[in-house]
Amino acid sequence: MSESQATIAPKKQHLIDPEICIRCNTCEETCPVDAITHDDNNYVVDADKCNFCLDCISPCPTGSINNWRIVSASYSLEDQFSWQELPPQEEIETPSEDGEADDAEAARLIEEAHAGSGGKTVAPASASKPTINLYNRSRPATAVVMGNFRLTDPAADNDVRHIILDFGDATFPVLEGQSIGIIPPGVDEHGKPHVIRLYSVASPRDGEKPQANNLALTVKREPNGLCSNYICDLKKGDQVQVTGPFGATFLMPDDPSANIMMICTGTGSAPFRGFTERRRRTMRDAPGRMMLFFGARRPEELPYFGPLQKVPEGLLRKHFAYSRVPGEPKIYVQDRMRASSDEVLTFLRHEKTHVYICGLKGMESGVDEALADICRGAGIDWAALRGDMRTQGRYHVETY
Ligand code: FAD
Repeated sequence: MSESQATIAPKKQHLIDPEICIRCNTCEETCPVDAITHDDNNYVVDADKCNFCLDCISPCPTGSINNWRIVSASYSLEDQFSWQELPPQEEIETPSEDGEADDAEAARLIEEAHAGSGGKTVAPASASKPTINLYNRSRPATAVVMGNFRLTDPAADNDVRHIILDFGDATFPVLEGQSIGIIPPGVDEHGKPHVIRLYSVASPRDGEKPQANNLALTVKREPNGLCSNYICDLKKGDQVQVTGPFGATFLMPDDPSANIMMICTGTGSAPFRGFTERRRRTMRDAPGRMMLFFGARRPEELPYFGPLQKVPEGLLRKHFAYSRVPGEPKIYVQDRMRASSDEVLTFLRHEKTHVYICGLKGMESGVDEALADICRGAGIDWAALRGDMRTQGRYHVETY
């Protein structure tokens, strides 16, 4: 960041990733306000000229154009000309406008959700670079509801819904494992707009429908919950204000030889649906294995129960655990893991295995104890292994 530039309120800056850019000049030709220029080293965006029209985004053949940072002072052209890679997102302490405050709130929620990983989280080395904070409350994306389907049995107590949102002409790039923000309409009892809520993307990066500009969410109706009831009651054709995308570490490895162990309850299955669909669509014969441990009270309450039965075991090894089936013992996800310790150990011993835990906060300790027990039985120090996996971007927790 140039020292000569005065510090100003945090703002969003459009940047080009020099590691991916192929210097084809398309963006410079497209930009209607001449905000894009280049030197011998890089193509760059002039923060003083860019008006966020996004005209340059879709013509870019590599996606290098689609990068954004929240900055306290804009990176100058000279800064950008000198880069070999994009700088990391700086820590923004004092957001001053609604939009940036929302970005900071989302970052806080994500950090809290990832706290169970036990330290600073790291993205998988082979994960694609995510776009974050593209839209916020000051400038939300408007999505249209394309479908709202109940995922749980009509007789089940829990109402979990599959919601499909279409972004029309708007650019809304997501990766599997990221979340979006939903702005519930209306104001609270103090007349302030309701805070955003985060929801995991449940579809792969190329859309719920391949090549469509849409995504899916898996939303559980919470009793008296403001935003979940708003979403679960949405009708086809309704418009929704969306922020994000958010989350830069709970991402899927792009390496087809990576093994992926996924452990979830309830709506924690959302990102894993995205992971599984990504592999199914683009890496069907991937040498890496995928394994799912999924806990619910009863089969009727397990989101995606029907579709999951149809996913071949060769693509996704499935273990279900039910804790409230009348006449049967209570089996929790950690019990099912212990019962499959040989398979768990085969995964954990492999240096390309990634572990993901997603769902309610309450599940973390039971799963962690099960992993520790399974490792202890095989003479492996789980705490040490978990620490190594975390620093290598192979251990991820997202609980809320
Ligand atoms: P809120 O209105 O915020 O209420 C929260 C809780 O308080 C509810 O349980 C509600 O029952 C209770 N409550 C509210 N008012 C009262 C009252 N007057 N008396 C007593 N109790 C009350 N959720 C999903 O469904 N799917 C996802 O994929 C998903 N992904 C997430 C990803 C991340 C990273 C994070 C952080 C959260 C995620 N969540 C997800 C949770 C989601 O963001 C919301 O927290 C959730 O939907 C509840 O929001 P709400 O507005 O409905 O409830």
